[in-house]
Amino acid sequence: MRQLTQAGQKVFEARYAGKDENGHINETFAEAVLRLARAAASAEKENLKTWEEKFSHIIGELLFVPSTPIWANVGKKDRPWQPGACFVLAVEDTLESMYDTLKDMALVFKSGGGVGFNFSAIRPRGDLVGTTKGQASGVVELIRLYDASADMVKQGGVRRGAIMGILNVDHPEIIDFIQAKNDGGLTNFNLSVGVTDAFMEALEKDLPWQLVFNGTVRRELPARRLWRIIIESAHSCGDPGVIFLDRLQSGNPVPENRINATNPCGEQPLSPGESCLLGSINLDRMSTFEGGLNKEILEETVTAAVRFLDNLIDVADYPLPAIAAATRATRKIGLGFTGLADALIKAGLAYDSAGGRELAGTITGLIRQAAHAASEKLAEEKGCFPLWDKSVFYPDRPRRNAACITIAPTGSVTTMAGCEGYGVEPIFAVAYTKTTNVAGDLEVFSPLFLEYIKDYNIPAETLAVIAEKGSCQGIEGIPEEVAGIFKGAREIAPIDHLLMQAAVQKHVDNAVSKTINLPEDASAEDIGACYKTAYELGLKGVTVFREGSKKGTVTVGRERA
Ligand code: ADP
Repeated sequence: MRQLTQAGQKVFEARYAGKDENGHINETFAEAVLRLARAAASAEKENLKTWEEKFSHIIGELLFVPSTPIWANVGKKDRPWQPGACFVLAVEDTLESMYDTLKDMALVFKSGGGVGFNFSAIRPRGDLVGTTKGQASGVVELIRLYDASADMVKQGGVRRGAIMGILNVDHPEIIDFIQAKNDGGLTNFNLSVGVTDAFMEALEKDLPWQLVFNGTVRRELPARRLWRIIIESAHSCGDPGVIFLDRLQSGNPVPENRINATNPCGEQPLSPGESCLLGSINLDRMSTFEGGLNKEILEETVTAAVRFLDNLIDVADYPLPAIAAATRATRKIGLGFTGLADALIKAGLAYDSAGGRELAGTITGLIRQAAHAASEKLAEEKGCFPLWDKSVFYPDRPRRNAACITIAPTGSVTTMAGCEGYGVEPIFAVAYTKTTNVAGDLEVFSPLFLEYIKDYNIPAETLAVIAEKGSCQGIEGIPEEVAGIFKGAREIAPIDHLLMQAAVQKHVDNAVSKTINLPEDASAEDIGACYKTAYELGLKGVTVFREGSKKGTVTVGRERA
């Protein structure tokens, strides 16, 4: 059993450990590992002990890290075993549906999941309401209502509810939607415009674009003008991002259940009512400075992790019968990785180099290959997912799971596992300020950096400069090769962030959650260029973070950014 780091132990205790009725922790990490392993093994018909040991091994050794709701819920006596992190719900254009869905959303939040919606079925603000002859309040008002409810659940639950709100680019209320976060507020929402290939073509050819509801054209404006509104808003507040609707649908394993939305961070496209559970391979744990990545351990871990996640679908308590039915009809799992940055550093490759991207692609490809093979074997043993005969795999490729690979942000679990890079992201910074209760603000170096420079004899004064700047770029006495490998997220060019996302997306069934960092002085056009490049690179969606935009602030080095 691995020892957690101090920060890892804190996350474990705050979010995952079992607690008694007074809120006191009554579970160790080792006990929690066993709880998860046992719960997953209980789905097996035979060899329960063997499976329990296998699952315990990969989780206890931190080779595989299940995501937050699994740790927080599964196997506990006092909670429903709800393992899913990602949900998509339908909302229709009736008052009943809006409030029914609101309640469903609250129940999902309570169980630890995040929800995505496509609001395009909702009639635009100002339209006539049939029964009252009054005016409809529209999409943005509905979003405000949902946001306020997410705040309410937050006050009662363990983590704040996260929501993805999507509106198609031809909806008549699209402009208000795009600007909905410009004056702050809607803090529980990520907004994304659902962009179609037809819109991208209209933009490319500088054609007019029609806003349509129920088959009636409500307005026409140049595609270029709508695009401008999108990128200016993203420039000021970070929202909206864009998702490419035709790509979501073309990657849909069961095409007749249309996909038009994703979960809050964008990595999991789902049909309405579906949910997906996530888990990450810890690439840091299977890489060393001497030998690079151990592919055998990687494959073994993936095989066991697929079975673990698949089993949880059987033993899960989903918050609603409709969610249970839709989830079990496709049995989607989202296996991905965390600690990519750690693995690249250990292999001596820069994140923004062709070699770095190649290794990232190879790793993701290996995970996918092993996961698909495992899902195929499970299908032979336990049967295909129920909608298999309606899927793109029918009839030649048996599968237990309609989709297997997802690259999640891995916020909490990365800290618990002790990796430096979250998900597919580069390290945040080579040195940063950490606020502690006991010692106040401390300058902390990336442990990988300290390990890497051991043989370089870098003088203490140089290290002091690095701590001060929170960066090792352009510093005298730091070899170029070291500076290249230890770029923080803000020191990597937007195009290199995008290229990494594309290198990984190529091997991913679902999608990749990734932030494209832009400097403070980036223009709206720069953001537009990122969105267009994302489209050209075949990505399913993209979100940007411009330094100093309203989205949030971070602390690097000694300065508050
Ligand atoms: P973790 O590391 O906590 O397991 P991730 O950061 O990988 O989770 O997030 C994965 C997904 O979990 C998100 O895309 C979202 O669907 C869901 N999620 C994350 N944070 C929240 C939250 N605060 N409330 C509800 N769902 C969340």
